[in-house]
Amino acid sequence: MAKYKIHSTCALVIGKKRACLYDFLRETKLFISLETALFLTSNSLIDKFKPNPIEIQELISHEIIYNANKFKGFTPAIFKYDDCSYISNLVIEYSEIYEDENVIEGVINSINYLLIKGVQIIISNYNHLENVDLLLHKLHDSFVRDIEIVITISNYNKVKPAIKKIIKHNRVNYVLALNKNVETLQIEERVIQINPKLYLSGANTLKFVINRTLYSESLEFNTYFNKKMFFNKNAEILNAPEYNVVFGNVKDIQSKLSWIKIISSEKFQYYWNAKKNDCNVCRDCEYKHMCVDKRLPTKINQNLWNFSEDCNYNPYTLKWKNI
Ligand code: SF4
Repeated sequence: MAKYKIHSTCALVIGKKRACLYDFLRETKLFISLETALFLTSNSLIDKFKPNPIEIQELISHEIIYNANKFKGFTPAIFKYDDCSYISNLVIEYSEIYEDENVIEGVINSINYLLIKGVQIIISNYNHLENVDLLLHKLHDSFVRDIEIVITISNYNKVKPAIKKIIKHNRVNYVLALNKNVETLQIEERVIQINPKLYLSGANTLKFVINRTLYSESLEFNTYFNKKMFFNKNAEILNAPEYNVVFGNVKDIQSKLSWIKIISSEKFQYYWNAKKNDCNVCRDCEYKHMCVDKRLPTKINQNLWNFSEDCNYNPYTLKWKNI
């Protein structure tokens, strides 16, 4: 049988029960059987594995694999995580404290010093929707590139005018509205409404991101904790809300050196290396390099982490629960 190779724009991820091909160009995924996956990864000259011919045809037609006997010049893919930012994403739990000039200055300084490209602002109170404008205005001149607003709502029409105002800020990519009164997912312009149950279950497209950067990062790091920072409603500095250790207060940190000292500490980076391939269960999951998972792992030894709480997806049965 002909030998096939995977295009450098795709990656094959093998789970316990099936495999998944991530297509970074089209940002799509395709599940295949383990037999076909093992055939594609085998270097043996003898055909040890029997691929499914229908799957092979499908992969050729999707331009995911090519006949290596016919096309010899293609270079193999190299996946290397490289990010110039000290912190890639910051999450802010918005409260009145972020209307204080000193705190806003601290937020802007942290973004500029640590080269933070993405900011997520979580708003739990309708009234804050109006007030967040001041912070958004100040962010215009900062290093940040993408802003995402997350808000819990029950009546979209009630908050629509305020949301429309927010979305006008050119750095705001979208507003994610958790609304228990929508069935599944509704997208209108840059406002995404999703049922919180579906959002929290993780069985939705928002949990999974197929892109080369996330894939490369996941090979080396935990994609939820690595290079992330969280400012809580008291403007305290944490790595993530799930990791309940405070590393100071935004308004007290004055210099670039102080910010770098905080985020460089071993304690701040404790979970950064807990990559999915070192986590029980996740290591057997075909979603492991597109999944951003906020559960806090427990270290068993140098190369093994465990979770006390189950994921809603089970890679051994291929089933989701609670939806
Ligand atoms: S088991 Fe769940 S958390 Fe782990 S990689 Fe799979 S989907 Fe993500």
